[in-house]
Amino acid sequence: MARLDAVRLAELLSADAAGFAPVFAQAGQTCQQVFGDTVKIRALLEFSNYCRRKCRYCGLNCTNTQLVRFRLTPDEIVNTAVQAAQAGYQTVVLQSGEDPYFTPEILGDITKQIKTACPNLAITLSCGEFPATVYQFFKDCGADRYLLKHETADPDIYAALHPDSSLAQRLQCLRDIHAAGLETGGGFMVGLPGQTLQTIAEDLLLLAQIPCDMAGIGPFLPHPDTPLGSLPHGSVLLTLRAVALARLLLPHANLPVTTALGVLDRTLADKVFCCGGNVIMQKVTPPSLRKLYQIYPADFTADTITEGRSKIEARLKALGKIPL
Ligand code: SAM
Repeated sequence: MARLDAVRLAELLSADAAGFAPVFAQAGQTCQQVFGDTVKIRALLEFSNYCRRKCRYCGLNCTNTQLVRFRLTPDEIVNTAVQAAQAGYQTVVLQSGEDPYFTPEILGDITKQIKTACPNLAITLSCGEFPATVYQFFKDCGADRYLLKHETADPDIYAALHPDSSLAQRLQCLRDIHAAGLETGGGFMVGLPGQTLQTIAEDLLLLAQIPCDMAGIGPFLPHPDTPLGSLPHGSVLLTLRAVALARLLLPHANLPVTTALGVLDRTLADKVFCCGGNVIMQKVTPPSLRKLYQIYPADFTADTITEGRSKIEARLKALGKIPL
């Protein structure tokens, strides 16, 4: 395939179905060569929906007064991570809004406690922006990975959506995460207002430039209690195309089938496994709290940690995949 610069990427993203088919095929082959039939299941523990940020697309933003807020205690977080390891998960993703209660010291202590209890459980943190020294501290406490999507590579769109941050600051965080020796997770939303195919091309190149070890690419889903609540959601097909191109740019990266994609169309979302995706997230958040981690509206099951694990394993096996 010709060199994938921004012009070529945007061209491919706008191709008709026949024009894009070779990209899906090549992304599927690349994924097969690198990961075989395996799909990694990550345990996602959403431990606080408090957030000091005002991201205009996100239901957790601090101006949303409709949302009932919750936070787990450090003991609850550690115990849930241990249960996830006992259920067979090899990675737990600890995600939250930017909740000032969870200082670096508290997050570091939680990380150390989980590592002491479960040395083989990889820990991904996804708790927002911190100074470089803090990412290094998380690494020293035993964290393995850090997930911080860049959201959009266009500085003007970024500024319009994030009144209290900038793209430059977000990218600096990603570089600091990488420099700290943490596996680095970026990613972006498809369908943000003002986004063009050129923007998505730049988003993809940015993932390669960081470089990201993992990348979450998902559709924007409107949340009614946010300023973007009346906008249409991002396109499933365009998201699938972006994941396929990300696979070609980053053959070894972990690319999840994002939860947001599954919310729009689970059958189509499963197609990502044939065209580049090799990871899926499964919530282990306490069932009564899942609906409160409402970054966008969605229904979630009340399955226990073990039930959820069994169901997702069965779903992957039915697709001919080997769950890890
Ligand atoms: N606070 C952390 C951070 O900023 O990275 C993690 C939590 S944040 C809620 C996790 C991700 O949710 C964001 O990176 C964003 O891409 C996604 N998200 C938020 N609102 C969304 C929406 N309306 N549609 C799709 N994805 C959304």
